[in-house]
Amino acid sequence: MTAPTIDRIETRLVDLPTIRPHKLSVATMYGQTLMLVKVYCSDGVVGIGEGTTIAGMAYGPEAPESMKLAIDGYFAPAMIGQDATRIQALMAHLGKLIKVNHFSRSAVETALLDAHGKRLGVPVSELLGGRRRDRLPVAWTLASGDTAKDIAEAEKMLEARRHKIFKLKIGAKELKTDIKHVADIKKAVGERAAVRVDVNMAWSETQAAWAIPALAEAGCDLVEQPVASAAAMGRLMRRFPVALMADEILQGPESAFEIAKHGGADVFAIKIEQSGGLFAAQRVAAIADAAGIELYGGTMLEGAFSTVASAHLFATFPNLQWGTELFGPLLITEDILTKPLDYSDFELSVPNGPGLGIELDEEKLKRFTREGMFKATR
Ligand SMILES: [Mg+2]
Repeated sequence: MTAPTIDRIETRLVDLPTIRPHKLSVATMYGQTLMLVKVYCSDGVVGIGEGTTIAGMAYGPEAPESMKLAIDGYFAPAMIGQDATRIQALMAHLGKLIKVNHFSRSAVETALLDAHGKRLGVPVSELLGGRRRDRLPVAWTLASGDTAKDIAEAEKMLEARRHKIFKLKIGAKELKTDIKHVADIKKAVGERAAVRVDVNMAWSETQAAWAIPALAEAGCDLVEQPVASAAAMGRLMRRFPVALMADEILQGPESAFEIAKHGGADVFAIKIEQSGGLFAAQRVAAIADAAGIELYGGTMLEGAFSTVASAHLFATFPNLQWGTELFGPLLITEDILTKPLDYSDFELSVPNGPGLGIELDEEKLKRFTREGMFKATR
């Protein structure tokens, strides 16, 4: 019996509206664009993967458009005709032909895993070693840019039992303004919720050294990527009674090893796209565990496909001390699945079906699929 091979690869850009503008120190997002990739195999199985970024190229070197181009022009020709069941071997082959392109790699690898899971009748989590948990705690990001609005949003989430961990995006305003914003929100939610911040590298080391103790005093328990360099993160570590988390500087296993070696983080925000795929993210987690670094399941504000792929992976981790922030699909106004994901009791259920265990609503998606490569206007 010959193994099924890859017949055809299709990519498309999908522009979806968000429930509100999402303000970060690097950009304000008014919508989200998903790059969806479909891998058609010779046995009739089709796998779907997703590549999504935060505000185009404001966050990192890849954008949905660049991923579409990389996959159409480079990944697809190298994949067609290859054995669809030897995923690790195929990804290694692609790694030789195409350097970096972590987000595109992750999208393609997700589609291959989805297809293989469907083929074998098992969830992706089982292909990754087997899940240890079926549900994952999910944090919510308060990023309206307005303290009163954020407090109202937090109250709504607590009331609905959807989230009790809140991450605040700060770094774009004056330090004192940002700290007051955090303190006011923590005061409003009190012991009912955890409050954390993400600075997205906006501070200098001296600003961070001034601001972090004030954040700890305000009741914040985790500061994500306050500064841009791993060396500065290392110098700030252990000076304050609050955990420091690496996100942007964590770009796969090699960087994870470098950060661990220099004691540059208490916590890693693991992301499948930033790591270069699910297998690479698995290796990042192993390095963290070996180094005594705690884990948090991060998001690129992805839609359902990358969110669920991440959930399958995070469900297999031995340690996931800080929960996850897999709320991406909730930031989008449209459900692109035939059956929505189960977010309840402050957690997300990891789907049980074969592959990713979710199904795309093709009809609905048609309305949001972009014609051509670039948006006509902005
Ligand atoms: Mg972050």
